[in-house]
Amino acid sequence: MTSQHPSDLTDVLKSKKDAFSIPDGVIYLDGNSLGVLPKNVPDRIADVVREEWGTSLIRAWNTHSWIDLPARTGDRIARLIGAEKGTVVACDSTSVNVFKVLSAALSLRPERKVILSDNGNFPTDLYVASGLKQLLDKGHQLKVVDPEAVRDAITEEVAAVMLTQVDYRTGRVHDMADLTQVAHDAGAIAIWDLAHSAGAIPVDLSGAGADFAVGCGYKYLNGGPGAPAFLYVAPEHQDKVTSPLTGWMGHEAPFAFDLDYRPVTGISRMTVGTPAILALSSLHAALEVFEDVDMADIRRKSVSLSELFIAEVEAKCPQLELASPRDPEARGSQVSFRFAEGYAVMQALIDRGVIGDFRAPDVMRFGFTPLYLSHQDIVDAVEILRDILETESWNRPEFKTRAKVT
Ligand SMILES: *Cc1c(COP(=O)(O)O)cnc(C)c1O
Repeated sequence: MTSQHPSDLTDVLKSKKDAFSIPDGVIYLDGNSLGVLPKNVPDRIADVVREEWGTSLIRAWNTHSWIDLPARTGDRIARLIGAEKGTVVACDSTSVNVFKVLSAALSLRPERKVILSDNGNFPTDLYVASGLKQLLDKGHQLKVVDPEAVRDAITEEVAAVMLTQVDYRTGRVHDMADLTQVAHDAGAIAIWDLAHSAGAIPVDLSGAGADFAVGCGYKYLNGGPGAPAFLYVAPEHQDKVTSPLTGWMGHEAPFAFDLDYRPVTGISRMTVGTPAILALSSLHAALEVFEDVDMADIRRKSVSLSELFIAEVEAKCPQLELASPRDPEARGSQVSFRFAEGYAVMQALIDRGVIGDFRAPDVMRFGFTPLYLSHQDIVDAVEILRDILETESWNRPEFKTRAKVT
């Protein structure tokens, strides 16, 4: 019989693990990058393919409400991020959604020219901002400061403050309520990327008064590789902004086939083209497991798992240096350690079934997904890490060759 950590005995989320397909012998600490497969997804996809597509054919847009799937999926996500129904839509990729909401935000502050972000942001957000700035050709400036310097950099020149709430490398969390307030006090618009927040930590978009948000469907939401992302627009802005990608799905009457664009009212105006029904069905089904879950319970367990992980690593693996904030309040649901040979150590870990990932130059990243991880998994994972470091079994050529995806 395998041992059981005492904290697992009182775990209110314990039964949720049964909802996921986790390969034998794997301890998965990468749900922050690609969530595991929920068991209900394969049957749901098979059903959508065989029954809905195969039998209902084009009628399924109406009979199986395919046309409303972006909004229905958005409503499932809304509950997890403190948003009202009708304010979130699942569509496109996070990168594309950044483009759309940033453009919308800038249109609300036409007299201002600064987009403020930080150098802890995920690069795609900065790349998109830079591309949009060039395309608009109106003299916008993308100002990128240290995460700690954002608050003081919010001046009356700033049109939009565009931040990722949880740093993808270290897990450091920005104070969304505070920074949104500071942005508003300066007359700026606040945009939040929730890629590492949604499904990982409690988020209160309405409470914070956030203007726009985007996030990822394939990380903590388990929607599958390349799952549709999501996008939030605060109710007060919904009918004031338009998408820069004025496609027919955002039109007031797509099936009138008018030659002129007229945006529909509400969040759907931020959608562009025909939704990817197979991928959306996967995400919609994956979200079912969250339906009866309280994000406060997820947070409690996430802190407990990550605190245990840090304590175990620091006790057993003194070679590694904590790269994440030590205060759990300042961290999302991931912990990173620095080690010069971190890439090779991570490959050796993966070879033994402990899956995390690596971010250049030296960050070993471990994500904690309370729905399918136990405290015992954490203890077992660190024991394998200790063994790899102590025996230097990572020091093999095959662990040092960088793959295309790290
Ligand atoms: C993962 C991630 C993305 C990914 O964007 P895609 O368009 O889905 O590739 C964007 N922003 C942040 C902050 C992320 O962590």
